[in-house]
Amino acid sequence: MDRYAVIGNPVGHSKSPLIHRLFAEQTGQQISYEALLAPLDDFAGTLHGFLRDGQGANVTVPFKEQAWALVDQRSAEAEAAGAVNTVMRLADGRLFGDNTDGRGLLQDLQVNQRIALRGLRVLLLGAGGAARGAIRPLLQAQPAQLCVVNRTVARAEQLAAQFVGQGPISAAGFDWIEEPVDLIINATSASLGGEVPGISAKLIEPGHTLCYDMMYGHEATAFNRWAADQGAARCIDGLGMLIEQAAEAFALWRGIRPQTASILRKLRTSSA
Ligand code: NDP
Repeated sequence: MDRYAVIGNPVGHSKSPLIHRLFAEQTGQQISYEALLAPLDDFAGTLHGFLRDGQGANVTVPFKEQAWALVDQRSAEAEAAGAVNTVMRLADGRLFGDNTDGRGLLQDLQVNQRIALRGLRVLLLGAGGAARGAIRPLLQAQPAQLCVVNRTVARAEQLAAQFVGQGPISAAGFDWIEEPVDLIINATSASLGGEVPGISAKLIEPGHTLCYDMMYGHEATAFNRWAADQGAARCIDGLGMLIEQAAEAFALWRGIRPQTASILRKLRTSSA
């Protein structure tokens, strides 16, 4: 049986084993998928050890940048993101690294949520790994503007500078912008601590602005609760993105993309 795993630290909370088990059942694929805790000082040993006979691995916090450096070949998305969340062992034993987070976000926004990004004014909050992985696919969707907004402004500026020439990108600090926008994507980890990034409430036009938090959980995230209080037209969490990035990884490994709608319904119900 072909073996796969998600490698992280911590990793016990990961929904990936459940998601990939549901994908395998749905598509009739005989695979095993486990969660592997890597020591913080030996991700490389864990990855190489598993892939001696495993076919592929997902990589999660805090190892995505290390995975980028360890693989032999990278997709264009992984190259742009500077991070790898999906590794596949090639027939000749070399390792191929992809980053499916950005594609997962776009699939969730455009297909599941039916948000046409073309022409929208978009704010991307955060300048960490998740934000970086989202920029290339967001620019490819041709928004009117994409502004990277971060607590540490220099990080937003550095990040935006890497994508100059690929679309209408800019950078700003939290309190620099007060004009309403069409879509705000929260790619900060503030919601993990129950905090809300310190942006102006004026960015949300009541009944119009859409808000998306990459984080997800049993209850509405702190950012989505705040956005709803400001009158955001819709507040969406990142569970759909999680499932779509997993479906992209499964498609890379197995050559078949699972249907995600029923899996999303199942996970929503089980985490309700
Ligand atoms: P990083 O640690 O790489 O980046 C964290 C970012 O959040 C930085 O820009 C940091 O700003 C900002 N930040 C942290 N705390 C605060 C705060 N209290 N107020 C304002 N800004 C803050 O994290 P990742 O990019 O890897 O992950 C970000 C989020 O995306 C996480 O919640 C993660 O769970 C989620 N995610 C979801 C996925 C999905 O499939 N749904 C996939 C990947 C990530 P500064 O630079 O100033 O420190």
